[in-house]
Amino acid sequence: MHVSELRNGRMTRARLVARGTQLAALLASAGSGADITCEEPLADASRLLWGIPDIVVRGSRTMVLDLKTGADAATDVSESVRLQLLLYSHLFRFTYGALPAVTAAFSLAHGLIEIPAQPEAVDLAVESVIAARHATGARPSPEGCRHCPRRFACESHWAAVHEGDLADALEGVISESATAESGLIALRISSQASKHLVTGISDETIRGDVAVGSHVRIVRALQLSSSERQAMWRGGKTTAVEVDPLG
Ligand code: SF4
Repeated sequence: MHVSELRNGRMTRARLVARGTQLAALLASAGSGADITCEEPLADASRLLWGIPDIVVRGSRTMVLDLKTGADAATDVSESVRLQLLLYSHLFRFTYGALPAVTAAFSLAHGLIEIPAQPEAVDLAVESVIAARHATGARPSPEGCRHCPRRFACESHWAAVHEGDLADALEGVISESATAESGLIALRISSQASKHLVTGISDETIRGDVAVGSHVRIVRALQLSSSERQAMWRGGKTTAVEVDPLG
């Protein structure tokens, strides 16, 4: 389908052209030799923090950008997006030694929405995530576990998933897999409690070989619906999949 056939196609195409030009100019402002990476994981292993910024730019100007393409994108960023961007800034600093000059959301609707990311604000965001992790003592929590690199192996976390306390993860045995024309993968997964269909999984997010009968764990997925027959899930850009996580 061509974009102009969409209900808001004209508006979207006009925005795409305008925003595309704006984004290109923004990236060009980092200089011709700038290193621009998309969806490259950044980690601070010492604090068990990690994240995948949409765009990281290192040149005469450094940037961490999060792309917002939704039609409902507001002129300001939500508190959770602000926190996420500040964490990305911290991860950039941890990896490259200095905070990025620009920390911003780039919205299709509104263009660049820069957020103040002074060292104090970034430190506060890191502290708040760590505090949220510790606030529950040894107990898993959605805030603490979401970006924890130990998720796949942390059994107290998986116990919480089975209790229904963490809503963005699932595990089970692969009963079927299929690849769409888009290249995205769908998995049918059976667990003791129910059956799951997870669509929209990018091959790049899967660790291990997908095979029927293998045990799989999936984190940071979005549950779309749930019935007695099966739960429907969708993968996103931060979803991670590990096949045979227990070896
Ligand atoms: S996944 Fe496990 S180790 Fe990580 S924050 Fe959750 S409970 Fe703690």
